[in-house]
Amino acid sequence: MAEQICPLCERPLAEPMNRHHLIPLSKGGKGTETVMMHKICQGKVHAVFTERELSLHYNTVDALKGHDEIAKFIKWIKKKPPEFYDGSMKMKK
Ligand SMILES: [Zn+2]
Repeated sequence: MAEQICPLCERPLAEPMNRHHLIPLSKGGKGTETVMMHKICQGKVHAVFTERELSLHYNTVDALKGHDEIAKFIKWIKKKPPEFYDGSMKMKK
């Protein structure tokens, strides 16, 4: 199997990971494009953006990465092992 890369942080994918709907399910994202991300990366996306923001303005990986908070997060997470997950990190819905 070819090595899979997380589209957000560009590190190799490893558990725990989550499927991210670029358009949230609650905003009509059923059957739309999904990407596999580290659980921590997906958690960060959902901590920074509301589902409305995701569906309207941040429905591509490039748009997500263009946001300051996410750019900072990527810089930080790049130094961590792919399996890294901080269970204490606040995950707001
Ligand atoms: Zn990642």
